Amino acid sequence: MKKITVFLLTSLALQNIGAQNLIQAYKNRADMVSQTNITTHLTDFENLGIKTTGSPVNTNTLNWLKNKYTSYGYTASQIVEDPFSFGSTSSKNLVITKTGTVYPDKYVIICGHYDTIYGPGVSDNGSGTAILLEAARILKDVPTEYSIKFIHFSGEEQGLKGSYHYADYIAYQGNTRKLDIKLVLNIDQVGGLLGNNNNTIVCEKDISGMSGNNAASATATQELAVCTGLYSPLQTFISNAYSSDYIPFEEKGYTITGFYEYIRSQNEHSPNDTFANIDPVYVFNVGKAAVGALQHFAVATTSNNILGTQETTGQKLSEAVNIYPNPAKNLLTVEFPKKPQHFNIEISDMTGNIVLRAENEHKINTTQLINGVYMVSIKTDRNQTVKKIIIDK
Ligand SMILES: [Zn+2]
Repeated sequence: MKKITVFLLTSLALQNIGAQNLIQAYKNRADMVSQTNITTHLTDFENLGIKTTGSPVNTNTLNWLKNKYTSYGYTASQIVEDPFSFGSTSSKNLVITKTGTVYPDKYVIICGHYDTIYGPGVSDNGSGTAILLEAARILKDVPTEYSIKFIHFSGEEQGLKGSYHYADYIAYQGNTRKLDIKLVLNIDQVGGLLGNNNNTIVCEKDISGMSGNNAASATATQELAVCTGLYSPLQTFISNAYSSDYIPFEEKGYTITGFYEYIRSQNEHSPNDTFANIDPVYVFNVGKAAVGALQHFAVATTSNNILGTQETTGQKLSEAVNIYPNPAKNLLTVEFPKKPQHFNIEISDMTGNIVLRAENEHKINTTQLINGVYMVSIKTDRNQTVKKIIIDK
């Protein structure tokens, strides 16, 4: 006998344990962002000097980055240089790849440029650079369903030269799409200005160029804002993406989003873009938001290898159970390789409130759910797993 019960609950309802565990696991890792590391990266970045594309200092910075990734334990085969040139100038992007457990050929790209112009560029873009390094350090041994590419672009200040090279010749070859990219999350100039109340970050959505990818960007940017609220103390302001390294990907039809400072320092591209003028706590907070969001987009496991806790049964079920389609509209199918005797399903929103419950039901009616991101908790007598779904009608 099948039984289905649906509850639509208000804000102070019961909390879904599975969803809360997932959020807590992501939060624990977001909280591993270290203010000391961020500050050290920013001052090291400043001390390298003016990193004009093609200059010796630009190359020194590339090597500094490579050494960081090596020190975190990334192997030589994971750290790849992407050389490009324009006119008489030559430089390199740096691409670090971490392979996904379920979708190894689909990528979440987190990126930011490391070249600077007319100054040491501690905000533009030492801030994004420092955050990428912290994210890569923290997530090194955390399994993610999707592959992640950490990309440090160069030539940004000369007109997105490095990112155009990557989008046009690596992600694409001619008219052929070579890389399946789930999302490009760009971080550029999030240093703020010391002394301001830097409590808000801009989440940037795509409104330009190709229009076919705008809706997906709006959804991703909304998710970025939700993650920022969950994993950092920052507030969010949704604005438009422009003039940074996500644009070449946007023009190829990929889904993009980004972080940018809310109160402008106006120090970019000048000798005043220094450590003394930025707000390192702001960079630290954006870093937490980024590490939380990156786990969300790449679908990190809830088990924590770093702390050595075990959730192996949950992981096995997670790999075995199939929930589709994702994104879903009005019907969600739950499929097990071996049908369990009994199972419970709970769907909750990103704040942990249960919005739907079902028992022993393989076809879940989701007509009552509004568009957004949800956590699906599946419990059998022996196992429990949590998967994320998107409702997009
Ligand atoms: Zn920049």
